[in-house]
Amino acid sequence: MPVTLWAAGAGFGVYRNSALNLHPDKAWFRAWTYQDTDFQGGSMTETGILDHPHEHAMAIRYQQRSAEIKALQRQCYALATLRLRATVEAAGGSGAGLAVVSDIDETILDNAAVMAHAMSRPTGQDKIDIWKLWEREGQPHLIPGAADFFELADELGVTIFYVSDRFDENKIATIATLSRLGLPQADADHVRLLGPPKAERRIAIEKSHRIILLLGDTLHDFDDAFAGSPLEEQHRLTEEHARRFGEDWIVFPNAGHGTWMEAELLPWDAPIRSL
Ligand SMILES: [Mg+2]
Repeated sequence: MPVTLWAAGAGFGVYRNSALNLHPDKAWFRAWTYQDTDFQGGSMTETGILDHPHEHAMAIRYQQRSAEIKALQRQCYALATLRLRATVEAAGGSGAGLAVVSDIDETILDNAAVMAHAMSRPTGQDKIDIWKLWEREGQPHLIPGAADFFELADELGVTIFYVSDRFDENKIATIATLSRLGLPQADADHVRLLGPPKAERRIAIEKSHRIILLLGDTLHDFDDAFAGSPLEEQHRLTEEHARRFGEDWIVFPNAGHGTWMEAELLPWDAPIRSL
Protein backbone atom coordinates (compact mmCIF):
# COMPACT_ATOMS: atom_id res chain seq x y z
CA MET A 1 0.00 0.00 0.00
CA PRO A 2 1.36 3.43 -0.83
CA VAL A 3 2.49 5.56 2.05
CA THR A 4 2.95 9.28 2.27
CA LEU A 5 6.47 10.55 2.04
CA TRP A 6 7.46 13.41 4.21
CA ALA A 7 10.25 14.98 2.26
CA ALA A 8 10.94 18.10 4.22
CA GLY A 9 12.90 19.24 7.22
CA ALA A 10 11.19 22.00 9.12
CA GLY A 11 12.79 25.26 8.14
CA PHE A 12 14.74 23.66 5.32
CA GLY A 13 12.76 24.60 2.28
CA VAL A 14 15.35 23.03 0.03
CA TYR A 15 14.05 19.62 1.08
CA ARG A 16 10.44 20.53 0.65
CA ASN A 17 8.03 20.05 -2.26
CA SER A 18 8.58 16.44 -3.23
CA ALA A 19 10.87 13.50 -2.96
CA LEU A 20 12.30 14.39 -6.34
CA ASN A 21 13.37 17.75 -5.01
CA LEU A 22 14.83 16.36 -1.82
CA HIS A 23 18.30 17.75 -1.29
CA PRO A 24 20.63 15.17 -2.84
CA ASP A 25 22.73 14.58 0.24
CA LYS A 26 19.63 14.17 2.34
CA ALA A 27 17.85 11.88 -0.10
CA TRP A 28 18.52 9.01 2.26
CA PHE A 29 16.13 10.63 4.72
CA ARG A 30 13.52 9.00 2.54
CA ALA A 31 14.27 5.80 4.33
CA TRP A 32 13.39 7.46 7.58
CA THR A 33 10.64 9.85 6.83
CA TYR A 34 7.61 8.00 5.61
CA GLN A 35 4.61 9.30 7.43
CA ASP A 36 0.90 9.06 7.03
CA THR A 37 0.24 12.75 7.39
CA ASP A 38 0.75 15.70 5.11
CA PHE A 39 3.46 18.20 5.91
CA GLN A 40 2.85 21.78 4.91
CA GLY A 41 1.84 20.69 1.45
CA GLY A 42 5.22 19.06 1.00
CA SER A 43 4.23 15.45 0.99
CA MET A 44 3.67 12.99 -1.78
CA THR A 45 2.48 9.47 -2.06
CA GLU A 46 4.65 6.67 -3.25
CA THR A 47 5.81 3.26 -2.25
CA GLY A 48 8.82 3.43 -0.03
CA ILE A 49 11.44 1.43 1.71
CA LEU A 50 9.28 0.92 4.76
CA ASP A 51 7.48 -1.55 2.53
CA HIS A 52 10.76 -3.47 2.49
CA PRO A 53 12.12 -3.33 6.05
CA HIS A 54 14.03 -6.57 5.63
CA GLU A 55 15.94 -5.16 2.67
CA HIS A 56 16.82 -2.08 4.67
CA ALA A 57 17.95 -4.15 7.64
CA MET A 58 20.19 -6.21 5.38
CA ALA A 59 21.76 -3.08 3.92
CA ILE A 60 22.45 -1.60 7.34
CA ARG A 61 23.70 -4.97 8.62
CA TYR A 62 26.24 -5.08 5.81
CA GLN A 63 27.26 -1.47 6.47
CA GLN A 64 27.61 -1.91 10.22
CA ARG A 65 28.65 -5.50 10.80
CA SER A 66 30.40 -6.95 7.79
CA ALA A 67 34.17 -7.22 7.84
CA GLU A 68 34.06 -6.64 4.10
CA ILE A 69 32.91 -3.06 4.57
CA LYS A 70 35.90 -2.37 6.81
CA ALA A 71 38.20 -3.93 4.24
CA LEU A 72 36.69 -1.81 1.47
CA GLN A 73 37.04 1.33 3.57
CA ARG A 74 40.70 0.53 4.28
CA GLN A 75 41.18 -0.08 0.57
CA CYS A 76 39.78 3.38 -0.18
CA TYR A 77 42.11 5.06 2.27
CA ALA A 78 45.08 3.02 1.06
CA LEU A 79 44.44 4.28 -2.47
CA ALA A 80 43.84 7.82 -1.26
CA THR A 81 47.16 7.68 0.60
CA LEU A 82 49.04 6.58 -2.53
CA ARG A 83 47.49 9.39 -4.55
CA LEU A 84 48.15 11.93 -1.81
CA ARG A 85 51.83 11.04 -1.50
CA ALA A 86 52.36 10.99 -5.26
CA THR A 87 50.64 14.31 -5.87
CA VAL A 88 52.49 16.11 -3.11
CA GLU A 89 55.77 14.65 -4.33
CA ALA A 90 55.00 15.81 -7.88
CA ALA A 91 54.32 19.27 -6.47
CA GLY A 92 57.82 19.40 -5.02
CA GLY A 93 57.17 17.80 -1.68
CA SER A 94 55.11 20.55 -0.14
CA GLY A 95 51.38 20.54 0.31
CA ALA A 96 51.20 24.32 0.33
CA GLY A 97 48.28 25.49 -1.78
CA LEU A 98 46.94 21.96 -2.14
CA ALA A 99 43.68 20.73 -0.66
CA VAL A 100 41.93 17.49 0.11
CA VAL A 101 38.14 17.87 0.17
CA SER A 102 36.27 15.18 2.04
CA ASP A 103 32.68 14.41 2.85
CA ILE A 104 32.12 13.40 6.49
CA ASP A 105 29.29 10.87 6.90
CA GLU A 106 30.02 7.35 5.68
CA THR A 107 33.35 8.67 4.42
CA ILE A 108 35.05 9.60 7.70
CA LEU A 109 32.34 8.79 10.24
CA ASP A 110 30.39 5.54 10.50
CA ASN A 111 26.80 6.38 11.43
CA ALA A 112 25.32 2.91 11.04
CA ALA A 113 24.20 2.94 14.67
CA VAL A 114 21.75 5.78 14.12
CA MET A 115 20.50 4.16 10.93
CA ALA A 116 19.78 1.00 12.91
CA HIS A 117 18.13 3.07 15.63
CA ALA A 118 15.94 5.02 13.22
CA MET A 119 14.70 2.02 11.30
CA SER A 120 13.41 0.45 14.51
CA ARG A 121 11.30 3.47 15.38
CA PRO A 122 7.62 3.46 14.60
CA THR A 123 6.46 5.25 11.49
CA GLY A 124 5.58 8.83 12.28
CA GLN A 125 8.60 9.62 14.39
CA ASP A 126 10.31 12.78 13.38
CA LYS A 127 13.40 11.06 12.18
CA ILE A 128 15.12 14.18 10.94
CA ASP A 129 15.14 15.23 14.58
CA ILE A 130 16.74 11.88 15.44
CA TRP A 131 19.46 12.63 12.91
CA LYS A 132 19.93 16.14 14.27
CA LEU A 133 20.22 14.73 17.79
CA TRP A 134 22.82 12.27 16.47
CA GLU A 135 24.78 15.16 14.94
CA ARG A 136 24.79 16.84 18.36
CA GLU A 137 25.14 13.91 20.74
CA GLY A 138 25.85 10.79 18.72
CA GLN A 139 29.00 8.75 19.09
CA PRO A 140 29.95 7.79 15.54
CA HIS A 141 32.97 5.59 14.91
CA LEU A 142 35.87 6.58 12.73
CA ILE A 143 36.00 4.68 9.47
CA PRO A 144 39.19 2.59 9.45
CA GLY A 145 42.08 4.29 7.71
CA ALA A 146 40.69 7.80 8.13
CA ALA A 147 42.86 8.85 11.06
CA ASP A 148 46.15 7.92 9.39
CA PHE A 149 45.18 9.44 6.06
CA PHE A 150 44.17 12.84 7.41
CA GLU A 151 47.13 12.91 9.79
CA LEU A 152 49.43 12.35 6.80
CA ALA A 153 47.71 15.08 4.77
CA ASP A 154 48.20 17.44 7.68
CA GLU A 155 51.86 16.48 8.07
CA LEU A 156 52.46 17.07 4.37
CA GLY A 157 51.06 20.57 4.70
CA VAL A 158 47.93 19.86 2.67
CA THR A 159 44.84 21.82 3.65
CA ILE A 160 41.83 19.67 4.57
CA PHE A 161 38.27 20.80 3.97
CA TYR A 162 35.44 18.81 5.49
CA VAL A 163 32.55 19.52 3.13
CA SER A 164 29.37 17.94 4.42
CA ASP A 165 25.63 18.50 4.28
CA ARG A 166 25.33 18.11 8.02
CA PHE A 167 23.13 20.84 9.42
CA ASP A 168 25.02 24.09 9.93
CA GLU A 169 23.14 24.68 13.18
CA ASN A 170 25.14 21.73 14.55
CA LYS A 171 28.51 22.93 13.26
CA ILE A 172 30.07 23.29 16.71
CA ALA A 173 28.98 19.77 17.61
CA THR A 174 30.34 18.39 14.33
CA ILE A 175 33.68 20.12 14.89
CA ALA A 176 33.72 18.68 18.42
CA THR A 177 33.04 15.18 17.09
CA LEU A 178 35.81 15.40 14.49
CA SER A 179 38.22 16.84 17.05
CA ARG A 180 37.37 14.19 19.64
CA LEU A 181 38.25 11.56 17.07
CA GLY A 182 41.62 13.24 16.44
CA LEU A 183 41.00 14.63 12.97
CA PRO A 184 43.31 17.55 12.13
CA GLN A 185 42.27 21.03 10.96
CA ALA A 186 38.74 20.48 12.25
CA ASP A 187 37.82 24.10 12.84
CA ALA A 188 35.24 26.62 11.68
CA ASP A 189 37.10 27.53 8.49
CA HIS A 190 37.78 23.97 7.39
CA VAL A 191 34.41 22.45 8.24
CA ARG A 192 31.87 23.66 5.66
CA LEU A 193 28.35 22.43 6.19
CA LEU A 194 24.99 22.77 4.50
CA GLY A 195 24.30 26.20 3.09
CA PRO A 196 25.33 26.62 -0.51
CA PRO A 197 25.42 23.39 -2.55
CA LYS A 198 28.60 21.35 -2.28
CA ALA A 199 29.62 22.40 -5.79
CA GLU A 200 29.62 26.06 -4.73
CA ARG A 201 31.62 25.22 -1.64
CA ARG A 202 34.18 23.42 -3.81
CA ILE A 203 34.40 26.42 -6.16
CA ALA A 204 35.03 28.68 -3.16
CA ILE A 205 37.87 26.40 -2.03
CA GLU A 206 39.37 26.39 -5.54
CA LYS A 207 39.82 30.16 -5.37
CA SER A 208 42.68 29.63 -2.93
CA HIS A 209 43.65 25.96 -3.30
CA ARG A 210 44.16 23.29 -5.90
CA ILE A 211 41.94 20.36 -4.96
CA ILE A 212 44.03 17.23 -5.41
CA LEU A 213 41.63 14.65 -3.97
CA LEU A 214 37.91 14.37 -3.35
CA LEU A 215 36.56 11.75 -0.94
CA GLY A 216 32.91 10.82 -0.56
CA ASP A 217 30.26 8.11 -0.53
CA THR A 218 27.78 9.71 -2.93
CA LEU A 219 28.60 10.84 -6.43
CA HIS A 220 27.56 14.43 -5.93
CA ASP A 221 30.47 14.62 -3.48
CA PHE A 222 32.55 14.75 -6.67
CA ASP A 223 30.62 16.60 -9.34
CA ASP A 224 27.44 18.62 -9.22
CA ALA A 225 26.19 16.95 -12.40
CA PHE A 226 25.33 13.91 -10.29
CA ALA A 227 23.15 15.91 -7.90
CA GLY A 228 19.49 15.26 -8.49
CA SER A 229 20.15 13.31 -11.69
CA PRO A 230 18.08 10.25 -12.52
CA LEU A 231 19.87 6.98 -11.93
CA GLU A 232 20.40 6.34 -15.65
CA GLU A 233 22.11 9.70 -16.00
CA GLN A 234 24.28 8.95 -12.97
CA HIS A 235 25.41 5.75 -14.70
CA ARG A 236 26.19 7.68 -17.89
CA LEU A 237 28.15 10.29 -15.95
CA THR A 238 30.04 7.54 -14.12
CA GLU A 239 31.16 6.18 -17.50
CA GLU A 240 32.05 9.67 -18.68
CA HIS A 241 34.25 10.27 -15.63
CA ALA A 242 35.60 6.72 -15.50
CA ARG A 243 39.25 7.70 -15.40
CA ARG A 244 38.83 9.81 -12.27
CA PHE A 245 37.68 7.00 -9.96
CA GLY A 246 40.66 5.84 -7.95
CA GLU A 247 42.65 8.71 -9.39
CA ASP A 248 41.50 11.92 -7.73
CA TRP A 249 37.99 10.74 -6.83
CA ILE A 250 37.89 8.15 -4.03
CA VAL A 251 34.42 6.67 -3.52
CA PHE A 252 33.51 4.94 -0.26
CA PRO A 253 30.93 2.14 0.00
CA ASN A 254 27.57 2.94 1.55
CA ALA A 255 24.87 0.29 1.35
CA GLY A 256 22.72 2.07 3.96
CA HIS A 257 21.29 4.83 1.82
CA GLY A 258 21.61 6.56 -1.49
CA THR A 259 19.66 7.84 -4.43
CA TRP A 260 19.36 4.26 -5.74
CA MET A 261 17.16 3.11 -2.86
CA GLU A 262 13.91 3.03 -4.76
CA ALA A 263 15.26 1.54 -7.99
CA GLU A 264 13.54 -1.54 -9.33
CA LEU A 265 15.53 -4.74 -9.26
CA LEU A 266 16.28 -6.28 -12.63
CA PRO A 267 15.80 -10.03 -12.24
CA TRP A 268 16.90 -12.64 -14.73
CA ASP A 269 14.07 -13.40 -17.09
CA ALA A 270 14.67 -17.13 -16.88
CA PRO A 271 13.22 -19.33 -19.58
CA ILE A 272 10.32 -21.33 -18.16
CA ARG A 273 10.72 -25.05 -18.56
CA SER A 274 10.30 -28.05 -16.35
CA LEU A 275 13.50 -29.33 -14.76
MG1 LIG B 1 28.28 11.03 3.06
